Amino acid sequence: MGWKTLKLRHGLVLVVIALSICLALLGCAGPASPLTPAPVPESTLTAEVTVTSNRVIADFPDTIAFTLEGTSALPVATINLEYGTDKRSIVSEVSRVEPEYAPGVKIRASWIWEMKKTGSLPPGAKVWWRWRITDKADQTYVTPRQTIVFEDTRYQWQVEVAPDLDVYWHSLGASLVKELTEGVESRLSRVKLVVNIPEERKPKVFVYPSAEELRGAVLFTQEWTGALAFLEYNIILIPVRSDNLDWAKRTLAHEITHLLVREATFGPFGDIPTWLNEGLAQYAEGEMEEYHRQVLDNAIKETKLISVRSLGSGFPADPDQASLAYAQSMSLVSYLVETYGWADMRELLDVFKEGSTYDNALQKVYSFDTGGLEEQWRAHIGAS
Ligand SMILES: [Zn+2]
Repeated sequence: MGWKTLKLRHGLVLVVIALSICLALLGCAGPASPLTPAPVPESTLTAEVTVTSNRVIADFPDTIAFTLEGTSALPVATINLEYGTDKRSIVSEVSRVEPEYAPGVKIRASWIWEMKKTGSLPPGAKVWWRWRITDKADQTYVTPRQTIVFEDTRYQWQVEVAPDLDVYWHSLGASLVKELTEGVESRLSRVKLVVNIPEERKPKVFVYPSAEELRGAVLFTQEWTGALAFLEYNIILIPVRSDNLDWAKRTLAHEITHLLVREATFGPFGDIPTWLNEGLAQYAEGEMEEYHRQVLDNAIKETKLISVRSLGSGFPADPDQASLAYAQSMSLVSYLVETYGWADMRELLDVFKEGSTYDNALQKVYSFDTGGLEEQWRAHIGAS
């Protein structure tokens, strides 16, 4: 049977290897890149395999094709492709597929990862893979793990390196990129979380000159014009022009703050109230937006504030109520950091990382719970 006629077997198997031992013993927050999974105890003998070709061809943003060619001393029993990304998760995720193969000593296998089936992979994401070949004597050979970067090859990218982010751009112009980057950095300096994101997870921002071009980088079909954050990859795509620079600075400062907060609290616990997460992100943007200020003032006047407790678990779907939720979150975080300082805020995030209810974490750091915070904050903003 020629290799072109081979069909894929259907199983796409997700192998999840728990890192609970690492987390329990070391308190570490998981690896920088996906861990090599524990060896499969199928065989201790190594199959005699010669690999002549082991390559991938990426066709951004749609597919990545993996092919393997070589020979085996004994006829081949199974060939598996294992692959994954540098997406950050509590457990290491390994995907395994088994392309069909011709039984014999000649190895020819290929498989195509179609992003349409699994969801978009952002530009700049790293993909690793290795092949696992088992022969008739149940001996296994595993190719060395290799990595590629899934790049948006439609454009020639340049990079502006800043302390907290790397900005990839191709046609905006160096001076506008510099202005954008400095604007983001100066906003980020408002948020004193003191989080060090390791180099391999440093936020990457891909600047596209139009929303249309940006949409070409993801497999979305709907009309949509905002920025797009892939939080698990620390990758953000954003359309930037000279006439939306201020919006872009605010948006990037907001999204990168989410990444910093996520880094500060990452782990099996680490759940924080929505008002805290959104409040910190907005604090980075700068002063409260005029529209939010009005929404907040009206709600105070009409005694229609949303309770802080309900702002802990998600925001309302109604657009007006959502605006109020954002405005209140910004006001709450401003109150906390301007009254009690950033050291307490950092401690609060530490307590959440260790795992705590919202009330206990607030109690531990500020000596009041959610109800107490609401009372103090209402008095501070003059709400009854
Ligand atoms: Zn947000």
